[in-house]
Amino acid sequence: MKKQLRYALGPPSWETNTKMKYSSIFSRLKKILLDSGYQVILTDRFIRRKGGLARGSKGYILPDDLKIFINKTIGVNDRVVTLIHELLHEAYPGWQEQQVDRTSKRIFNRLTVPQLGFLQFFVMLPGEIKAMLKSNQLSAAR
Ligand SMILES: [Zn+2]
Repeated sequence: MKKQLRYALGPPSWETNTKMKYSSIFSRLKKILLDSGYQVILTDRFIRRKGGLARGSKGYILPDDLKIFINKTIGVNDRVVTLIHELLHEAYPGWQEQQVDRTSKRIFNRLTVPQLGFLQFFVMLPGEIKAMLKSNQLSAAR
């Protein structure tokens, strides 16, 4: 109890700084998604294309074509992590793959519910969105 008080009264904690850092990275990714004209394409055809930064079989980004391909056969949250990953490549071109990978998971783990919802809409298939809206309506009408 005493410990918590001391931390609360002190300078911004490591946790606060970390929170701010990841939320500012998220804002940057969101801006890219909304303003840069990137198209997110869900596909199950995974061929490594020329000029693309391939990342296993989950997704890749083609900066020259403004396209991000995401594997639609993986789970929705896995697609969200992949989208964050590919956007980080765009936002921080100097980062190594390992840093992009690590940061994408950390951002995902810190997403708020609205942030997660925002990203999910980019990586969900029309049928999945319909099903989600329907289940939300049902639970709201209860
Ligand atoms: Zn990558």
